[in-house]
Amino acid sequence: MTTQTAPFSAEARTRSLSPSRAADFKDCPLLYRLRTIDRLPQRPSAAAARGTLVHAVLERLYDIPAAARTVERAKAMVSAEWEKLLEAEPDLQQIVSELRDRATKDDSERTVDPDIDGRDQHRYVAPDSDGDVIGRWLISASGLLDSYFTLEDPTRIEPVGRELMVEFDLGDGPVLRGIIDRLDATPDGDLRVVDYKTGVTPREAFEAKALFQMKFYALVLYRTHGVVPRQLRLLYLGDQDMLSYAPDAEELDRFERTLRAIWAAIQASIDKQEFRPSPSRLCAWCDYQALCPAWGGTPPPYPVTAIPVDNPAAEPD
Ligand code: SF4
Repeated sequence: MTTQTAPFSAEARTRSLSPSRAADFKDCPLLYRLRTIDRLPQRPSAAAARGTLVHAVLERLYDIPAAARTVERAKAMVSAEWEKLLEAEPDLQQIVSELRDRATKDDSERTVDPDIDGRDQHRYVAPDSDGDVIGRWLISASGLLDSYFTLEDPTRIEPVGRELMVEFDLGDGPVLRGIIDRLDATPDGDLRVVDYKTGVTPREAFEAKALFQMKFYALVLYRTHGVVPRQLRLLYLGDQDMLSYAPDAEELDRFERTLRAIWAAIQASIDKQEFRPSPSRLCAWCDYQALCPAWGGTPPPYPVTAIPVDNPAAEPD
């Protein structure tokens, strides 16, 4: 098994379903519409950019010989990988303002000192340069690499795929498409699907959501290779924790029926041009609040000529 490098076919792009977009539709049909059909841009976020950066370093780490895969070597790759990301996506520079706002808030909390009479007084703090702000952020990315090395020993792992694009056409359903962070295989053919998360381990209620993505990948591998992956492994670098799961064939058969049902619901919404908002805690991170009726907004007219484009290669994990 090797890493697939060919781009997804044009046909697959118009009839495709990725785990992220399937999850969007389940969470909030309007969010799915605005992201996938209207294709409205979203602001780059510092958290997502850091995730992309750490994923890039962990992918490159396995290019170098096993014995040289040390945490120092990984950290030394951070700046260069960031430069590469910026070159490919100059808009990422916008995260500086988000980081600066956060730093200003932190500073204002840190610099309020009571004076001798117990009244608050503010100390002057020199503004940081963009370079300082990004430098601190890059250090936080390096911290996640420290976490990674507490969870796995990369000198003992030889992946068979990294950032592996996988695709399976359900025929009368969608084309399932996704990108697997890392795929490991034993000599006798057992597969392990590995996903890096830069956040913390989800509480139980959110665990099912994390596994949804992993089962999606497991199903595609099962259908394309005829083998049920032995282990699905989620590495949470934010709190140095690991979640492992062993799927079985019946479960993946049921999961395929779930995906078909989600796809049918998406098609029905497209036919009716009806995507209702479904407010939840996710709204706090949604870029589309101003266009959302649940928040007093009005969505743009439905783009009748648009077709859904679900491109997992174009977004951070
Ligand atoms: S603000 Fe909330 S309800 Fe509205 S589109 Fe976003 S996630 Fe859905």
